[in-house]
Formats: sequence, structure tokens, C-alpha cells
Amino acid sequence: MARVLLINGGSEGHINPTLGVVQELIRRGEQVVYFTADQYRDRVESTGAEVITFDSGKFVEAFLAGGRNPWARAGGLLRTADIIIPSVLDQIKGKHFDYIIHDSMFGCGRLLAQILDLPAINSYTSFALQQNSFDMMHDHLLRQFPADVNEQAQQEFQRLVSQVEAKYDVRVGSAYEVSCNPAPLSLVYTSKSFQPDGESFDETFKFVGPSVVPRSHSHFDFSHVDTDRLVYISFGTVINQAAEFYKLCFAAFAETKYTVIVSVGRQTQIAELGDIPDNFIVRNYVPQLEVLQRAKLFITHGGMNSASEGLYYGVPLIVLPQGADQPMVARRVAEIGAGIHLKQEGLTARDLREAAEHVFEDASIREACVEIGDSFRTAGGYHRAVEEIFAYKRNLGLGDNFT
Ligand code: UDP
Repeated sequence: MARVLLINGGSEGHINPTLGVVQELIRRGEQVVYFTADQYRDRVESTGAEVITFDSGKFVEAFLAGGRNPWARAGGLLRTADIIIPSVLDQIKGKHFDYIIHDSMFGCGRLLAQILDLPAINSYTSFALQQNSFDMMHDHLLRQFPADVNEQAQQEFQRLVSQVEAKYDVRVGSAYEVSCNPAPLSLVYTSKSFQPDGESFDETFKFVGPSVVPRSHSHFDFSHVDTDRLVYISFGTVINQAAEFYKLCFAAFAETKYTVIVSVGRQTQIAELGDIPDNFIVRNYVPQLEVLQRAKLFITHGGMNSASEGLYYGVPLIVLPQGADQPMVARRVAEIGAGIHLKQEGLTARDLREAAEHVFEDASIREACVEIGDSFRTAGGYHRAVEEIFAYKRNLGLGDNFT
């Protein structure tokens, strides 16, 4: 039995893939202390982990403080250090840990591994990034800002680096290190064939596939739902305030042969969406895995979890990326022929309906989805993730135990 400290941040997409891993670690005898945002306490506790939390409001405020410039976003992660690090250290005072698993982005995991002097494992809930691809993306994003703004933002980032290094006696390093928290073992919750340039990654990256475990956070009655032509629409849990888009979906699919389930997110008032067509079921949140097991098309923002969950169940995707890593996911889905990448700007109800009809008619899209779904299942999911963690432990001489 070893004691594991798991450090994560604040969005459902970063939490969900870790739940199966934690449950399996505990089943195999590990003790897990899981540090995350306060609103995920119940969900994480249901895995059997001990949960310690931070104030998500302060965390998000710190992360977003510098604005949208890529240097500021990396700086934002450093600004969360003061919310995270003292809070973790205080709550684990007197406890011993054998290794740390941390999110690739949120939670200052690499810094905590240094402070606690623990072997680290990086948990990538999106595509993995190596230094070269991160730099290319960073440079591409910088081009959207004037040179003087970038220079100022870079200076501010360097100031934050020096501040955090001095305060916590750690090495912070580059924007890549701050943003991706590289570690000697990285668990990536996708398959090598879905990962762009999958073959270019070395053996320290383990592509374990989506970590899909049944979740039961909300009830949904499917008994009256005609699932033969079921379309599911969701923009995830973060950038999902899209009332105009939901209305466009109503216009696209009202009085058609499709049955449409829409998850509009908890920030959208359903009453403000106007008349809902008879063939629509609109909710603030649905049990997505259960819906996807019945859906024939998923219109998604391309969050990594949503896209993976759809493809895991062989559901073709229409991806309308809203931000973050979603454009990358949308491009990859189109590249492998598992769906269509649509731009939201200028999109009409007719465009969306025609794209849906195209997906329903094109057998090659369904075949590509089944193929990538197979690659996900073969990759092994949370079972494989735990196998890799135990192999890593053995290499470190931390022992192993099987039940
Ligand atoms: N989700 C869900 N029900 C909903 C909306 C979302 O269960 O009504 C889950 C979904 O299954 C996925 C996560 O929330 O696991 C969303 O993660 P994703 O990476 O797709 O998007 P994000 O919310 O981070 O933008």
C-alpha cells in the first residue's frame, strides 16, 4: 500500500477521467488524498478517496487575472500558486506520501512535487503537448496581440516566475513547464492514433485511452425517448452560455425526424430560450455517458472529454469549437474522418441541419468513429493507467501490491 497525493484543479473535464483511476488505485490497496475545487468534493469522495479542497472562486479569479494573452495565461497558472500551495501544505501537515499524481495544467503539481520531494505522474486530460508543439501553439497565439503587449506580458510572466521561485524555493522554468507540468510519467487519456503526431512521443507518455466509468449524478428517463435518430447537443460545462446557438438548433431541427436532447449547462436559464419544439428535450445537465450510448450524432464544443466519450461509443461528431484546446480537437476529428468541424461564425440553421444530414448519410464517418472507438477501448482506460502507475512504482523501488 502506498499513499498517493492527487492534485487537480477546477473543471469537470479535468476531474472526470481521474475518477476511474482513483477508484481502481483504491481497489488495489492505495490510499488516495485528492485535492480539488470545493464543488467536486462529493463526486471525488464517491471514489473512496479522502478529499481536501481549495476555494474555486479565488482560484479562477487568480487564473484569469492577467487576461487572454498566452504569457498571461501561463502567468495565471503561477498566480494560483498562492491559492493552492499553502492550502495543500496546511491540509496535509504531518502526513506522508509516496508519490504525487497531478493534472497537466491546473494545481501547480510540478511545484508541489518539488516542495514535497515526491516522484510525480502527470495526468493529461487533453492531448499531450511536447515542448516543440507547445512553442508553436504559443507563438501562433501571440500573433493575435501587438508586439508591445506581448513584451509586457512576458516581463510580467518572468516577474511571477522569480516571485514564485523565491517564495517557495522551487524551479519554475519555462511557460511550457508551467502550462504542461512535465513529469517522468505522463498518463494521456486518449489513444496514440487520436493524439496528433502520436508516434513522436517517447515511452514516458502512456496513451491509456479515455478513462470512462459509469457516473450517476443525474437521473434521466429514456422510456419515452425515440432513440432511432437521436441527436445530442452539448457545449460542456465551462464555455456553454450559448443561448443564441441553442435557439439556432431549435430552428435547425424543429419538426424534423430527429429527436434532440440538449444539455444547456447550469448557467443558462431554460425559460429564457423561448418556445421549445416538441421533438426537443432540454436540460441543464444530463447523464452524458448514458445519452451517448443511445445517440446517433453528437453536436459538441469539442471538449476533450466530450469528444472522447462520443467516439468511445462510436457516435459521429459535429464539432463547433468555442476556445481552449477545442479547435485542436475539432481539427483532429475532421482529419481522421470521424465528424465535421464547423465554424460557429455565420452558421445558419440550414447549415447545421445539412451537416447533420450529411453525417447520417455518410457511412464512412460512422466507420471512422467505430475504428477510433476501438483504439480507445484497446488502449485500456483506467485499468491500464493503474498498470502504468504500478510499473512506475516498481521502477522506483516503491513495491507493488495486487488484490
Ligand atoms: N457532462 C455531463 N453532462 C452534461 C454536460 C457535461 O456529464 O450535461 C460531462 C461530460 O460527460 C464530460 C464533461 O462533463 O465528461 C465535460 O468535459 P469536456 O472536456 O467535454 O468539456 P468542458 O466542460 O471541460 O468544456
